[in-house]
Amino acid sequence: MDTADIEGDLTEVLYTEGQIHARIAELCRQIEADYEGRDLLIVGVLKGAVMVMADLARELKRDVEMDWMATSSYGTSTESSGVVRIVKDLDTDIAGRNVLIVEDIVDSGLTLSWLRTNLESRNPASLEVCALLRKPEAAKVDIEARYVGFDIPNAFVVGYGLDYAERYRNLRSIGILAPHVYS
Ligand code: 5GP
Ligand code: MG
Ligand code: MG
Repeated sequence: MDTADIEGDLTEVLYTEGQIHARIAELCRQIEADYEGRDLLIVGVLKGAVMVMADLARELKRDVEMDWMATSSYGTSTESSGVVRIVKDLDTDIAGRNVLIVEDIVDSGLTLSWLRTNLESRNPASLEVCALLRKPEAAKVDIEARYVGFDIPNAFVVGYGLDYAERYRNLRSIGILAPHVYS
């Protein structure tokens, strides 16, 4: 199956690989300026943020440390409850560090809100959020994300790390999943 076949499962391509890379480059210029002269630890939230982390880290023209967390949310496959469990914790002690959480998408915001509170309690020097995608219409809690790639409509999207039942993560673009795929 090549990319063209997978894209047949989308009703619409929202962002191409080129558009995603261009936007990540813009975010990196901002991040470089904001963290100039300070250490930076980027924390990727598995598994969705793998692609963003890889591209963001390589686009940054500076030294950066990388760590990973995996969380699991109690809820349905398409809606999170905000009750989160840590499946894999950080290897790094973040006390006194400048931490930037890297997420694939902020939907209700519940997961990120929980994660922010959890990491905040470990006393980092600073804690910010970078999310490639955000659904403003789906927000249940107000999430302060300093860096946001794209605001998107309230639809279920896949690709570039984002999955449906573990599929489509390797799609290079981001698109809206066609209803015929669910049924
Ligand atoms: P939240 O707690 O903000 O509602 O949901 C966060 C998580 O739900 C995301 O990290 C992501 O794993 C998943 N999620 C939310 N919206 C979408 C979507 O449109 N597509 C996919 N594939 N996952 C989503
Ligand atoms: Mg995520
Ligand atoms: Mg998922």
